[in-house]
Amino acid sequence: MIYLDNAATTRTAPEVVEAMLPYFSEQYGNPSSIYGLGAQSKKAVTAAREKIAAALGAKPEEIYFTAGGSESDNWALKTAAEAYAGKGKHIITTGIEHHAILHTCEYLEKKGYEITYLGVDKEGLVDLEELEKAIRPDTILISVMFANNEIGTIEPIGKIGEIAKARGILFHTDAVQAFGQVPVNVDEMHIDMLSASGHKLNGPKGVGFLYIRTGVKIRSFVHGGAQERSRRAGTENVPGIVGLGAAVERAVSTMEERAGKESALRDYLIGRVEKEIPYCWLNGSRIRRLPNNANFSFLYIEGESMLIMLDMKGICASSGSACTSGSLDPSHVLLAIGLKHEEAHGSLRLTLSEETTKEEIDTVVEELKAIVQRLRDMSPLYADFLKAGK
Ligand SMILES: *Cc1c(COP(=O)(O)O)cnc(C)c1O
Repeated sequence: MIYLDNAATTRTAPEVVEAMLPYFSEQYGNPSSIYGLGAQSKKAVTAAREKIAAALGAKPEEIYFTAGGSESDNWALKTAAEAYAGKGKHIITTGIEHHAILHTCEYLEKKGYEITYLGVDKEGLVDLEELEKAIRPDTILISVMFANNEIGTIEPIGKIGEIAKARGILFHTDAVQAFGQVPVNVDEMHIDMLSASGHKLNGPKGVGFLYIRTGVKIRSFVHGGAQERSRRAGTENVPGIVGLGAAVERAVSTMEERAGKESALRDYLIGRVEKEIPYCWLNGSRIRRLPNNANFSFLYIEGESMLIMLDMKGICASSGSACTSGSLDPSHVLLAIGLKHEEAHGSLRLTLSEETTKEEIDTVVEELKAIVQRLRDMSPLYADFLKAGK
């Protein structure tokens, strides 16, 4: 098997699994208990919190553990909207966010909030002037993703943070794809809230965190016990939190080396596909791009057919076509960067890991060439296109 869908989820690193194991069957105490067994769990949770805070340039008490990126996004938006409703009910976000943000915004619209969805250019970048113009006296929150999960574009987060700070507006970023892949510092980038998730950085699924800057008036999301400074109730997912801490520590210490290796292979992949497959192009930015992301559109191809044929060759990939998103419309991200429906339908996302090899990339390119040729040979539209060209 060749796994090139690391934006969907990653393999939990063996050392992360190893770090987690004792917290299932030996050190299973409840961190809230007084006796030694509980204290051990509490110590492990504290250690994980400190590692994550250090990775962000934050304070440990600003890290709140959650059940993943979606919960962190929901928490940040819903309760900030509620807490700051006295100041206004206007929120600014972008049209290319993950559904955890977009669907939360739709929910808030039903509750009487007004949302401005910023457009992006053909590389997927937010226009800072457009952002400035969108700000109103009643704007309470700006939420812009750090890096896009489909096309890998990295947004100018530091500049957005500066604008938000100068206007006295809260700034949240969904950093689920970026954290662990590119450097993130909440002070330098003026970030007030940040969402991240374990399973996107070789940690376990179902655990993540929300960074909340001290002084932000956000409310609790899960009511109950006094865990997480009474802001997120529920007995801590101790093994998950330990795994998240280990994964973050690992991701930060290997970041430079991984990014160098992955971006070199990514560029090799992009170069070969662009040169050897006709009527295709790269989606997203060539420069402001996650080190492991390649996203192409192939004309006269259906994304699902490509995925099925790649799967038959043992290759895991992803597409922004309609069927894979579970709706009739193709990816909102690909439409937002100006692709036509049929161009978005023919998209393919390949996301590498540190384990990806050049041999694997070569195999994938060879298979892809054959698959694209076969699918085009069956396409009446492609036949018409060739005829028209002659
Ligand atoms: C995966 C992802 C999420 C959701 O995270 P989960 O931990 O799966 O809930 C949110 N935002 C982005 C950008 C993602 O890639």
